[in-house]
Amino acid sequence: MSKATKTPNKTHKQDTRLAHSGRDPSCHHGFVNTPIYRGSTVLYPSMACLEANAQDYSYGRLGTPTVEALQTTLAELEGGDATLLTPSGLSAVSAALLAFASAGDHILVSDSVYRPTRRFCDNVLKRLGVSTSYYDPLIGGDIAKLLTDKTRVVFTESPGSQTFEVQDIPAIAEAAHARDAVVIMDNTWATPLYFKPFAHGVDVSIQAATKYIVGHADAMLGAITTTKETTSAVARVHDELGLCPGPEDVFLALRGLRSLSVRLERHQKSGLELAEWLAARPEVARVLHPGLASDPGHALWKSDFAGASGLFSIVLKPYGRQALAGMLDDLQLFGMGYSWGGYESLIIPFDPSSYRSATIWQEDGPGLRLHVGLEDIDDLKADLDAGFGRLAAGA
Ligand SMILES: *Cc1c(COP(=O)(O)O)cnc(C)c1O
Repeated sequence: MSKATKTPNKTHKQDTRLAHSGRDPSCHHGFVNTPIYRGSTVLYPSMACLEANAQDYSYGRLGTPTVEALQTTLAELEGGDATLLTPSGLSAVSAALLAFASAGDHILVSDSVYRPTRRFCDNVLKRLGVSTSYYDPLIGGDIAKLLTDKTRVVFTESPGSQTFEVQDIPAIAEAAHARDAVVIMDNTWATPLYFKPFAHGVDVSIQAATKYIVGHADAMLGAITTTKETTSAVARVHDELGLCPGPEDVFLALRGLRSLSVRLERHQKSGLELAEWLAARPEVARVLHPGLASDPGHALWKSDFAGASGLFSIVLKPYGRQALAGMLDDLQLFGMGYSWGGYESLIIPFDPSSYRSATIWQEDGPGLRLHVGLEDIDDLKADLDAGFGRLAAGA
């Protein structure tokens, strides 16, 4: 790799690399940030150069210095061989699955997976002759019993979307590798800073960079990071599907990445404080946050993860829809919206009972997923406290 990025200094610690990796001001007249390169055509100086394809960039879709800056940095942070960017987190998921699953193959997917991932498996992959079985996210090494000669992929996501089960990734990976299956992990919740997928046996790691990496709710982007063994299969599908992200979105992700560590520290601190506060509320039946000592996934989270982000769920005591709407509709700071990871707090009701198939979601009260943003924690508590007042009044 030559181009517009410096070779990373392996002795530097993570926060130093966050500030310095993937950029080389000397390539850009001294300007600190790699600029937004826009372009389709890349000109070749000679026929010999064109025939040998002997230059760093060849075609807009296949990469620019802006794209490469982010790819290099993410690969380094996740601890993988290479990273490829896609226009969304979901396209990173679907391209990674298409890279390994072919007609006649079987794949195993965690029951707690991001719901659109599930839809891709149930619709597109099914149509292409790939069969999907969902497994209990807490299965651990017992996944060996579900692996068949046809199983090509074990798809994991930890902690799980909405319900936050922590998966035993090393045990799952060991069983999968014994049967030559590829382990893909959606690592969006922890980001590359709080979980190192390749140190835990993962072969392909997915980031919805849309979330914490962009960090400001203003761009869509996905990333697939691979090992030496899995890079070529992913690179081929990525190329053949023509998955190239928009240059502004890549720039915004690079800019967000520089402050990821300090933002996550605050998301973690406020998230844990709010989770503990919520656990003590009479309206709350259960808090689903692996960072809490009382959480069933806490021990595994503590041994495998370096931190917790600001996304977790609660289950309320049984309240009706109208009381819940009374609570949510008038919140001042917690917005109702899906795409988390920005600087702002969010809340959204959820109910996995209608689509989970390997596990049963049996809770009497409604589920709420919270994203704790960077606001002052006292203001966030006051907003929820007033909401709980409306909830109780509407019951
Ligand atoms: C949001 C999300 C995605 C999809 O990302 P988009 O950029 O919105 O397509 C994938 N996985 C997880 C866990 C997510 O939360």
